[in-house]
Amino acid sequence: MVELPVRRIGVFGGTFDPPHLGHLVAASEAAFRCALDEVVFVPTGDPWQKHHLKVTDAAARLAMTRSAVESDPLFRVSTCDIERDGATYAVDTIADVRAEYDEDVELYFIIGADSLANLHTWHRVEELCKAVKFIALNRPGHSRREVDTSFGARVEFIDMPAVDVSSTECRQRVRDGRPIRYLVPDAVEAYVREHGLYRS
Ligand code: ATP
Repeated sequence: MVELPVRRIGVFGGTFDPPHLGHLVAASEAAFRCALDEVVFVPTGDPWQKHHLKVTDAAARLAMTRSAVESDPLFRVSTCDIERDGATYAVDTIADVRAEYDEDVELYFIIGADSLANLHTWHRVEELCKAVKFIALNRPGHSRREVDTSFGARVEFIDMPAVDVSSTECRQRVRDGRPIRYLVPDAVEAYVREHGLYRS
């Protein structure tokens, strides 16, 4: 029997409140540079790092994430973090995404360099570092030096074209009555408008 190569899967967790072009460029560049066969976007359930902030309803973030990725055959969305009760921890995300495949897969955790700065605070970090390789993308305003490579974290740095957009900025722009068109996919812009998100 011919043995097929192990598929390489990128896992891209985020609040996606809303998903924007920075997320899509990051996922696409990671897929291209690391020869990934698929990128799974995983909207968080209850993001423990953002407890102090008001996060939009998971159903709305999921709908926006689905519409943001639907035109790219390399991208799909997993609801595992939304379905799991309690705080979202990356180590659980990885186990759940792995369980979505019948075959053996190699998992790559895609992350902005800013988010990899405080790895030492993550839940069961050593286990996570054994289970995945990280693909860290540069993000305007954050340097590589911030990345925490303790716990044997295997990190591949990828330079992507700088996209200086954040979900925070998108929400603020809507609140201020400014456009987010071209900062987010058209379908996301329409969803935000039709559902009156981020107005107050
Ligand atoms: P917020 O502004 O609400 O904190 P965000 O724009 O950082 O949100 P998240 O959904 O929290 O978006 O991010 C998910 C992942 O995408 C994180 O790893 C983050 O570092 C990365 N990321 C977000 N925006 C960019 C960007 N413009 N360039 C590179 N990476 C990004």
